Amino acid sequence: MSAFRNWREQLCCPQCRCPLAEHEGGLDCPQCRSRYEITAAGVPLLLTPADRQRFAQLLETASAARMQEEYARRTRAGWRARLWRGLSPPLPVYHNPAEPPLPRHPDGLNLWLGGAGRETPGFVNLDLAPFAGVHLVAHAGRIPFAENSCDAVACDALLEHVEDPAAVVAEIRRVLKPGGHVLAVVPFCHPWHGYPADYQRFSRDGLERLFAGFDSVSVGIRTGPTTALLTFFTYYWKLVFPVHARNPVRRWVNRALVAAWGWLSAPLRYLDVWLNRRPDAHTLANHLYLLARKPEK
Ligand SMILES: [Zn+2]
Repeated sequence: MSAFRNWREQLCCPQCRCPLAEHEGGLDCPQCRSRYEITAAGVPLLLTPADRQRFAQLLETASAARMQEEYARRTRAGWRARLWRGLSPPLPVYHNPAEPPLPRHPDGLNLWLGGAGRETPGFVNLDLAPFAGVHLVAHAGRIPFAENSCDAVACDALLEHVEDPAAVVAEIRRVLKPGGHVLAVVPFCHPWHGYPADYQRFSRDGLERLFAGFDSVSVGIRTGPTTALLTFFTYYWKLVFPVHARNPVRRWVNRALVAAWGWLSAPLRYLDVWLNRRPDAHTLANHLYLLARKPEK
């Protein structure tokens, strides 16, 4: 059987890293005697008691409620949800086609850090709560897999949401097999967005420094200067015309205004087809990608 299908057998204790023993409804650590639950949907909850408390607090905030509302909206079925998605303007985003494809081993253990609200085939999706699409609940700074166990790691728009990105990168390096690849995507010029908290931004130099322990590091633009500008405008209009206003008439007028801006300005994003090629485009990039390899020795 492939490592992907066997991933649950490779879980280890987030506190002492001893391999875990699965039994009905839970996982036990034979070394430190910690016990971990498995949800009714079959998702292991591999959090330390302190992390569990911290994440529960984070998920009580207003921004966390909006985040969960958005995850639900993305996947909701029915004509109302489809109509809503159809009327919503496209995101003012042009993805740079030069970004390398996701590192994904066909039979290997591919780990996605922080991918709630989406399904990426072939990846074990780790996040801080059992949202839709999540296979495993854990702290990205205490990944419950053994050293040299993962073939590939992806983390897309995660590192700005963790308190200590260096600790997460050290964990990625620990769990990757030698020669295994990581693809990380981070914001540079992007507004604050609480998913559920937002701690930092990364310049090209900062990102390279964060992954200094890796080989074959390449950094480039995922979304460029025009995407940055249009995204700031969208957030600006949402500040001027709050889309979550209490008064329902104001709320819907504001939503219509912001949507009108979105539809009218959306074509401008294609300016990035040209701008992303400029050598200095990173100075105003919206998101950067980094592809790197764990050294062989
Ligand atoms: Zn343990």
